This record gives sequence, C-alpha cells and structure tokens, in this order.
Amino acid sequence: MKIICVGRNYADHAKELKNDIPTEPVIFMKPKGALLLPTKALYYPEFTNDLQYECEVVVRISSNGKFIQEKFAYKYYDQVTLGIDFTARDVQRDQQKKGLPWEIAKAFDGSAAVGTFVPVTAETNVHNLAFLLHKNGVTVQEGHTRDMIFSIDQIIAYVSKFFTLNIGDFIFTGTPAGVGPVNGGDKLEGYMQGNKVLEVEVK
Ligand code: MG
Repeated sequence: MKIICVGRNYADHAKELKNDIPTEPVIFMKPKGALLLPTKALYYPEFTNDLQYECEVVVRISSNGKFIQEKFAYKYYDQVTLGIDFTARDVQRDQQKKGLPWEIAKAFDGSAAVGTFVPVTAETNVHNLAFLLHKNGVTVQEGHTRDMIFSIDQIIAYVSKFFTLNIGDFIFTGTPAGVGPVNGGDKLEGYMQGNKVLEVEVK
C-alpha cells in the first residue's frame, strides 16, 4: 500500500506557511512504514526540534484504477477518517531552502497517523465534512472539506494520471490553518462531524 498526500490544499494554510496558492495539486508520498495505526503512540524523532501536527481528512481507496475521471472518482473510495501528517517543520524548511525533496521531513516512521475509518455515507459525504483537532483538550485546528482547493475527486483524477491507485492506499487530503508544534506528553484527538475518530499520543 502507499500513502499519497496533498500539500497546500487549503488557502488559509498555504498562507500561514507563506506559500503560493497552487494551481495544480502538490503531491508527495509516504512509505508503508510511516503508517501509525490507531492506539499507537508516536515517539518524538531525534532529528527534529519542531515536530508539528497537520490534521487531515483521509480516504481509503477501495478499487484499483488508473486515469480515473473526476466524475467516476467517488467509486474508488468508500471509507474516510482523520489522520495526522506529522511534519518535522525545521527539516522541511531546510530542505525547501536547498530545493531538495521533503521525504526526510514528512515520510519518516510513524509520520502518517490514521484514525478509525468509517463508511462514506450521506452523513459522512467527503465533500461536506466538518472536522477539528484538539491538542490536550484545546481546539487547535478546524476545517471543512468544502474549503479544499482541490476536491477529493479532483485529487483522485490528478493522482491517477501518474500512479495506479490500489485497494488499501490512503490519501491524505491536506490540512487547514492552525498547524503547530507537539511535544512529548501531548495528546491529539480528531473529531469528524462531531465524532471522535482519532487519538494519538506523542511520547
Ligand atoms: Mg499535510
């Protein structure tokens, strides 16, 4: 399986990191070893001093496909949850300054936390989902999928031009504004449509 991620998919987040609003989706990937399953804690990596959370809606691919048209993309996912795209922001900034790839800042072990998947239904329509992230009980991020620059169906159409999508792949769809640091002992909890679907502890 692979983990496909979209960067800068909410205008307010692109602005907070002083990035331009993209005209095409910004895509990167994480390997299988990055996956942090529910109930697992993330151990603060030794190579960063600025580990940050990015809470994102995550869809699970349910059919194999390539060159998927946007109008048929909804047939290729059937479950949704929240995840954390953990980012070593200091490492990412260094890499960006040098014009180098982001993997060491974004794709390290445990950097892709996912919550409990729920079926896509009328209530969990991926294009109309409100979500928020609590850090130690305080709301730090609030988002709504209608504010995405590229919708989930547009992302699937775009990504599948380059990469075959396979059953069990995950797509992290980008984070809204409010990203920030985590430290050992912090607890992150994600709520989708008011229901808690994600909990991650940092150790
Ligand atoms: Mg992200």
